[in-house]
Amino acid sequence: MTALPDVSPEPIVYLNGEVVPLSEARVPVLDRGFIFGDGIYEVAPLYAHAGGRTAFRFEQHLARLARSLAKVGIANPFDNAGWRALIERVVAANEAEAGLAAGQDAIAYIQVTRGVAKRGHAFPAGIQPTVFLMVTPLNLPDAALRAEGVRCVSAEDRRWLNCDIKSVSLLGNVLMAQYAAENDAFETIQFRDGMLTEGSSSNVWVVKDGVLSAPPRSQKILEGIRYGLIEELSAECGIRFEVREMNEAEVRAADEIILSSATKEVLPVTQLDSQPVGEGKPGAVFAALYDAYQRAKANEAQEAQQGAKNDPRERITV
Ligand code: PMP
Repeated sequence: MTALPDVSPEPIVYLNGEVVPLSEARVPVLDRGFIFGDGIYEVAPLYAHAGGRTAFRFEQHLARLARSLAKVGIANPFDNAGWRALIERVVAANEAEAGLAAGQDAIAYIQVTRGVAKRGHAFPAGIQPTVFLMVTPLNLPDAALRAEGVRCVSAEDRRWLNCDIKSVSLLGNVLMAQYAAENDAFETIQFRDGMLTEGSSSNVWVVKDGVLSAPPRSQKILEGIRYGLIEELSAECGIRFEVREMNEAEVRAADEIILSSATKEVLPVTQLDSQPVGEGKPGAVFAALYDAYQRAKANEAQEAQQGAKNDPRERITV
């Protein structure tokens, strides 16, 4: 038996109806997630606060999960209330048995594959999806990293043209992350036919003359849950926001480049392909968005606690 990688403390996970330690969770090798990468995933932050944890922008994460599942014809195994209850159950198990401390931010990793069947490419009839949920501690980038910013490299985007689907078929993204790692960089910023798409696991934002720009929502990028959030935050901060295609030269001439994702929140890029971005320091737009992001977290936590107080059946927090 292959040894489990070091994931101590060992999380408690949900797999197909059971809540078990990770080392006891088993998937048959004929699972189509293993054989074909035929599955969908979702990653949502669970931010800790005095009253528990809030699944941040959870409705949007669940909507994206539902969209991705629908696009590949896998039935969604739960409705939103079902997913919420499941996450609460797994969080509680991790607090009780896996040392997940109160006050520790966490991440919910959800994966749904088409299920287990005799190997054959087309969808088999009558199989049950495999459903997996794992809750692990989330360690956000620290203040030093935010103050310094990160180095990125660039590469041609050679992935398929269904990047809007949050598929577990991530080999293209894995190769881009490895390219960054081999070049001592934090992330690879990709261009398709000379136009900016996204990172291997992040959306990319460009600032020029005070205007924040993002590539359009399309099948060429995954629409991060932070995409809509940053749109809102820029309005709140009075930052002009534009959606437009951007070529490589424009990205290289940016005053600021910013990455966003659930596990990074927002991070400033201070070097691209060994050249400084703008002045080579995190910029004012990044600073404003970071602060606004923290306020959004605090507001959501407060609303969730309020909601839970007003109606105890409404288990908004986890
Ligand atoms: N693009 C890709 C390819 C990603 O993997 C991610 C991270 N899930 C994102 C963008 C950002 O999405 P989110 O803000 O929902 O984390």
